[in-house]
Amino acid sequence: MVLADLGKRINSAVNNALSSAQSDYSTTIDNMLKAITTALLESDVNIQLVSRLRNNIKSKLMESKGNTKSVSNGQTKKLIQKTVYDELCALVDCNDGQEPFRPKKKQSNIIMFVGLQGSGKTTSCTKLAVYYSKRGFKVGLVCADTFRAGAFDQLKQNAIKARIPFYGSYTETDPVKVAAEGIAKFKKEKFEIIIVDTSGRHHQEESLFQEMVEISRVVKPNQTIMVLDASIGQAAEQQSKAFKESSDFGAIILTKMDGHARGGGAISAVAATNTPIIFIGTGEHIHDLEKFSPQSFISKLLG
Ligand code: GDP
Repeated sequence: MVLADLGKRINSAVNNALSSAQSDYSTTIDNMLKAITTALLESDVNIQLVSRLRNNIKSKLMESKGNTKSVSNGQTKKLIQKTVYDELCALVDCNDGQEPFRPKKKQSNIIMFVGLQGSGKTTSCTKLAVYYSKRGFKVGLVCADTFRAGAFDQLKQNAIKARIPFYGSYTETDPVKVAAEGIAKFKKEKFEIIIVDTSGRHHQEESLFQEMVEISRVVKPNQTIMVLDASIGQAAEQQSKAFKESSDFGAIILTKMDGHARGGGAISAVAATNTPIIFIGTGEHIHDLEKFSPQSFISKLLG
């Protein structure tokens, strides 16, 4: 089920409960939870997360029900809506109260990207470069993908279109070397944000993860971002765990949220790696990048 439909299904589950003719409070809540859980599972959200959400909503609503025997009064209705909303936010909120990464002016902040081929890595690198450039930072892009033929050309074209300085090589085959050279050049020229695009593969492969470890060691990123295609479903979880082990990313960009993404797998990936989503990609254009906040995401989902 695509995300837009998930929102509709959850809304209708809540609305059915609110207008329920069923006189028993507990049964009404159970029916609502059954509909919500089915919708979440059909959107690929991990079963453990769904069951946790279900238990949390149930216990909160039962705890605060007082003498309520049905959902007929206004206060109870509000409580049901708020509890469902809060638990859905908690599902996509992994910030744990940590300070989000904020690049500092007048020093070099290095941001490394990781992700599988096709996830939207190169596009997202450029989008983020434009985002920071618009906010007054001096930004450079480094192409450390020497694996895929045409990778440098792609980054170069994007960078030129976005008017972002770039570095890469047509001849050097060692990505670690290209990354180190690019960073050294931009540091010398007092660039404030240096974004390093790395290589991907079509599948998870040991060699890719080893490469990420090596680049990471040399690049010493201030922030590592994993790019995740929102439409890949259940595979997202496994993929993110593998990247987490090799490159210990601290943030996620979810791409292709404009398409027919099921999204639930990606939501599970966020929880599995306990890492916050910081931006979502909403199109192919360089400005199609939105800051992510759990509250506005859930509000939008529910319409
Ligand atoms: P990479 O192999 O991970 O570097 O992926 P690319 O950046 O080359 O992107 C792969 C494809 O996905 C390209 O056709 C991009 O235009 C497209 N793409 C990337 N991000 C988004 C997004 O947020 N929405 C849509 N609709 N397409 C995207």
